[in-house]
Amino acid sequence: MEIDRSIASLPIGVFETDINGRLTSANDAFRVLALGGGSITQGAAPWVNAQPAERQLAEAAWQRARETATPFTFEFRLWKPDGEVMWVHVSTQPQLGTNSTITGYVGTAHDVTDAVVKRVLSEQLVGLLDVTADAVLVFDQHGALMFCNDGARELIGVSEQTGLNDAAAQMFIQAIRDQVPREVTTSSTSNRWEGELGFRSPDGIMRTLSIVLQIVRTADGVISHYSAIARDITEAKQLQDELTRQATHDAMTGLPNRVLFLRKLSEALERSRTLKRGVTVLFVDLDKLKDVNDNIGHGVGDQLLNTIAKRLVSATRPSDIVARIGGDEFVVLCDGLGDEHVAMDVADRVRQAMTGQVILQGIEIFTSASIGIAMATPALLSEESPNDAAVTLLRNADTAMYRAKQRGRGRCEMFSEEMRKTDRDRAALSSELERALATNQLFVVHQPIVSTHTGRVAGTEALLRWNHPERGVLTPPVFLEMAEESGAIGPIGDWVIRQACIDARSWMDANIVDGSFVVHVNVSARQLSDSGFVERVMGSLRDTKLEPLHLALEINETTMLNDNPAIMRTLTALKRLGVKLAIDDFGTGYSSLAHLRDFPADFLKLDGTLVRDIGLQGSDDPIVRSIIQLAHSLNMSVIAEWVTTDDQTQRLRLLGCDFVQGNRIGEPVVASEFAPLVQSRSTNR
Ligand code: GH3
Ligand code: MG
Repeated sequence: MEIDRSIASLPIGVFETDINGRLTSANDAFRVLALGGGSITQGAAPWVNAQPAERQLAEAAWQRARETATPFTFEFRLWKPDGEVMWVHVSTQPQLGTNSTITGYVGTAHDVTDAVVKRVLSEQLVGLLDVTADAVLVFDQHGALMFCNDGARELIGVSEQTGLNDAAAQMFIQAIRDQVPREVTTSSTSNRWEGELGFRSPDGIMRTLSIVLQIVRTADGVISHYSAIARDITEAKQLQDELTRQATHDAMTGLPNRVLFLRKLSEALERSRTLKRGVTVLFVDLDKLKDVNDNIGHGVGDQLLNTIAKRLVSATRPSDIVARIGGDEFVVLCDGLGDEHVAMDVADRVRQAMTGQVILQGIEIFTSASIGIAMATPALLSEESPNDAAVTLLRNADTAMYRAKQRGRGRCEMFSEEMRKTDRDRAALSSELERALATNQLFVVHQPIVSTHTGRVAGTEALLRWNHPERGVLTPPVFLEMAEESGAIGPIGDWVIRQACIDARSWMDANIVDGSFVVHVNVSARQLSDSGFVERVMGSLRDTKLEPLHLALEINETTMLNDNPAIMRTLTALKRLGVKLAIDDFGTGYSSLAHLRDFPADFLKLDGTLVRDIGLQGSDDPIVRSIIQLAHSLNMSVIAEWVTTDDQTQRLRLLGCDFVQGNRIGEPVVASEFAPLVQSRSTNR
């Protein structure tokens, strides 16, 4: 049987076989394709040139098809002369004789290499998609699922089934419709969207999915299908959220920190520029938290901070932002608050909420806070960027808070430009003070302390002065507090003690004073809590060859009441070494007389306010009298300060006071003028 001429030249391989499937004829295309261009060998099968194993498979398939009377198709590989693999697809149809019996078969053969390679690649890709944890889904333009991988089954919950019936796939499509911006699917130009999607996965957990949505369109812009790759980023997002929270919140109280507060403040200022609404900042600093730490413990201090933080939040409106920006510093942002009186009321309400008794670990603690208020002004908003204005506003509120501290704590102060100027002046003065010692601008003056019994100068109080190049001679009230704050008090205080010792030594050498002379020097709590202080005092005494009994250190009543163990250690050591101690300004603080019993002082200095009133209530001065009696019973000598009249001196002498001091008795003088002063007193007598 010969193949028709017309078929012989077809580009598809065509062949005929007998009923056993052995080739009887073939066109040129088949011979080129399957027989390497050669002619048909008697009894050869169409797959004669396949590898033996594939030949066997082909024979088996052929037998099966014949037995079951089903169409026969088979694919096998051939190696081309250049070594490349070619896939050939054959299929056959029975040829029927006149009485419908099969007389043989006619078949076709194609080179299907491209299709097979694509199919294999596609199978490999699907295999790959199944090992990735990402969910991959393809939907047609109506939303019917066309493809999904294992990841999609697990993460989205789709079943094996494709089409419109999969409930999970439809929920996923719905989530895309609800959460992806509409223009992504409606605009004819967009073809890709990346973003996050919230989706409840089959285990019931609400997850965050990172999505890449690909929209595939036909040439005329109509959507043909969508593909989506979804990755579960729930944990990463939670971690990221947690890190962001940690970076912007205070770990102890959970409140926003300075970074977040400044950002919120800057945003509020930006809005207020256009909306013309007020913005107010409160700066809240707890009073004397250090004392709680020192006296009760840091743990209780922490608890107190937490309690105060809660009170602060409850005392403000839900829309206010409360932040902790430092140790015991809290700030409140009141967005929309532009009235000064209302701001003052709000601040006072916060202050009251933070004032009172707190019981922690069974201990009663009294708390109070100082509050500074700063309000955004039109000038601030027009001159500075929102970020800079936020920093300025916070600093202004801090300045006002500082003023509240200076004015006695437990109060609110509204910021004013005058405060800023004072602040700047203070800062300038503070840095000048740092250099004053090195540039010899500091000097000491002595005020005589006179015996009421003999009228002789029994000692002096050494007082610090600062000869400021522009402002003239300044006294300690102007600069001492800032020296305490900056720490400059350390070296300056040491220098005053040494200078006092040098002066006392020179007067003793010149026989201007006798062997009972005592030079008094004021010292602060900060100096006394420095562990090297005793050593340095003793060094000054040694260097000037002055016996310790000629030096008295004056501490004020508040320092005496301070239970700081470091201060008590210093005082006990000094006392043991023979240095004298004096309680200064007695009668101004809250110390009870009972405190005196426990304190190892040699002198008690009656405060000027008590001295001032002497004689005003008639002849008796019971308070002064009993203080003097008590002091004497505790072996302390009494010195009265601010004595201005002879009558006061007379009365004090009768009340038993041992020494007097005051400008009338002797103004402070520099060391070189001390000798003439002593001599004039002795000749006046
Ligand atoms: P003032 O009235 O001048 O504010 O006195 P203060 O003792 O509160 O001192 P200041 O505000 O200058 O300093 C804050 C102190 O608060 C310093 C430190 O002893 C304490 N402090 C800061 N952070 C913490 C904290 O996290 N826990 C505890 N327990 N104490 C802190
Ligand atoms: Mg404080």
